[in-house]
Amino acid sequence: MADVIIVGGGPVGLLLACELKLGGAEPLVLEAATGDGRAARSLGLRSLNARSLQSLALRGLAEPMAAAQHALFDELSKLRSPGPDDMIGLLVEFTGKGMIRGHFSGLPLFDASGNAEYVMLKQDELEAILAARAAGLGVEVRQGCAVTDVVQDDSGASAVLADGQVITGRFLVGCDGGRSVVRKRSGFAFTGTPPTMTGRTAIAELTDPGQITSSIRAPGGLVTPSLVPGEISTLEFGGGPDDRDEPMTAAELAGSLSRVTGLDVRVAKLTTGIRFSDNTRHADTYRRGRVLLAGDAAHVHSPIGGQGLNLGLQDAMNLGWKLALVAAGRAADALLDTYTAERHPVAAKVLRNTRAQVALMRPGPQVDALREVLAETLRLPEAHEHFATMMDGTAVDYAPGTPVGRFAGAHDLTDGRALLLNAGPVPVGYEDRVRAAVSDEEQEVLVRPDGYVAWTAGHGDLGEALATWFGEGGMLGA
Ligand SMILES: Cc1cc2nc3c(=O)[nH]c(=O)nc-3n(C[C@H](O)[C@H](O)[C@H](O)COP(=O)(O)OP(=O)(O)OC[C@H]3O[C@@H](n4cnc5c(N)ncnc54)[C@H](O)[C@@H]3O)c2cc1C
Repeated sequence: MADVIIVGGGPVGLLLACELKLGGAEPLVLEAATGDGRAARSLGLRSLNARSLQSLALRGLAEPMAAAQHALFDELSKLRSPGPDDMIGLLVEFTGKGMIRGHFSGLPLFDASGNAEYVMLKQDELEAILAARAAGLGVEVRQGCAVTDVVQDDSGASAVLADGQVITGRFLVGCDGGRSVVRKRSGFAFTGTPPTMTGRTAIAELTDPGQITSSIRAPGGLVTPSLVPGEISTLEFGGGPDDRDEPMTAAELAGSLSRVTGLDVRVAKLTTGIRFSDNTRHADTYRRGRVLLAGDAAHVHSPIGGQGLNLGLQDAMNLGWKLALVAAGRAADALLDTYTAERHPVAAKVLRNTRAQVALMRPGPQVDALREVLAETLRLPEAHEHFATMMDGTAVDYAPGTPVGRFAGAHDLTDGRALLLNAGPVPVGYEDRVRAAVSDEEQEVLVRPDGYVAWTAGHGDLGEALATWFGEGGMLGA
């Protein structure tokens, strides 16, 4: 029996599987799609913010992500450079120069130093990097396994497959995206606000490509040609997509482009297209017994500002080591409750800022004026920093106002164990979970496997912190 069944082999499921394996647990990933079925998801670029990159760097994964961006940007820069009014194009261009920390509703947040931690890459490239790491760690991923139901009892949780097969683990995590079967079948409440807009991104050839060469913000909505050749996006207000499962047609895209621009736009060929909305909902808790949620399964919102993937990857980093410890009987079950306690407030803030960003995308002279006022405000260094740390994720702090719960910075946590810095040897019985090291900084600190501070000298007792976060010493090895 696997320790943890992960439903969904998207980016969040794959990273969680890697984290579990590193922590000594045996995960099994059940993914509905097969290789080909996942191709359409690579539409559009995905941004990784500073905190995601700092977290991925702890496992040596930030570099391959940055390399994928560089390869992509080299290719793109040969094809076209953005015009001065091309909002997305400018963002992409400055990203290539390391000068972007993110954006708020399209208003860029800069880092003049050129050392910004911000990467844009295609989702299939990101998933390929995570899949290669999972394979390297020996994670089993079963494709073509659509889960239709979930059941749990005191000893475990089971996934029921479409063919009736039942696969049981000690725990089960739904990483199965916004329309999560795990969430629906396990009784999680998922409350929020319904969609007010429809977004479309497509790979298409316009009959007259000269009609749309840069971003257009018009009374009907928004059109943005992507720097990725042949990709174009529209945003229209007035409700969500009628049927998200129907394949997009050339006529549908042409209709949307024409309504927004007021031009008679014809689409000569549509290769593929996806729809999205600002449906904004949040699971009431991320854990019900032996079933947990991570990523889009736990929270959905508009993609404006590029935060869903970032949230989900950090859910996986937070949950992975905790669930590995509990599944192995090393730490008490209560450790899992800290997952909701720490991550739910972070997602709630993202849901709030995405609602605000959608409001700022609406057409009309009042919103135009609001955008101008905000752009002026962002010239104030303190305001700029506030928005930048909100969007690059570095404002995340699990115990605000104290020195614990904050991100500890760059450390070697590649083996997935916690790190006891400058505080002598690891107390007996914790050697399998904690590694000791000495650094140039004199501060004594215990860093969790996800890079956050668990204890620092002068703020609580080290023994208590070890027991809280890593269970009693020697439980397994004794
Ligand atoms: C246009 C667009 C642009 C975006 N840009 C950004 C961005 O720049 N930055 C950012 O941070 N986020 C962005 N996002 C959001 C980001 O794509 C998602 O937040 C991210 O993909 C969530 O990852 P996930 O693994 O939780 O879910 P998903 O990527 O949805 O993966 C879920 C997986 O579960 C599988 N699955 C589903 N149901 C079942 C089942 N019943 N049984 C088995 N398997 C199942 C699916 O096949 C899929 O592989 C964007 C989204 C869109 C639509």
